[in-house]
Amino acid sequence: MKQTRNTVARTTILEMIQQSPIAMSQPAIQHALDGLCDRVTIYRVLDRLSEEGKIHKIVNVNGVVNYAACNTCNHQHTHQHQHVHFSCRICNELTCLETVVPNFQLPEGFQQEETFFTISGVCNHCQSVADE
Ligand SMILES: [Zn+2]
Ligand SMILES: [Zn+2]
Ligand SMILES: [Zn+2]
Repeated sequence: MKQTRNTVARTTILEMIQQSPIAMSQPAIQHALDGLCDRVTIYRVLDRLSEEGKIHKIVNVNGVVNYAACNTCNHQHTHQHQHVHFSCRICNELTCLETVVPNFQLPEGFQQEETFFTISGVCNHCQSVADE
């Protein structure tokens, strides 16, 4: 019984993140699920999906963790992408810029585990609204 409900939660959450053009925070996901599952379940599902390489975590400039879909990852690898995320100060939306990958090299003795690049500014949507 529990298994079935968790599977539904998992499928629903994954689809929601994959279909969203922007990264989603846990409260936003919970709100969109409209009571389908509790906070703990959502947290566990997000953690699992992240481990499986289906979604990745992004820490926004305000410290809030957001989640976005992975297009190139799978469970055999840790997350391979180092793309930049754009945080809009007007709409507060966080977007994956998958084609923007910074080039850097760490000094000897430093081992990279997780990488978070976040650029803040005004996104293309808010920019075009301002231009009108
Ligand atoms: Zn990934
Ligand atoms: Zn914006
Ligand atoms: Zn991303």
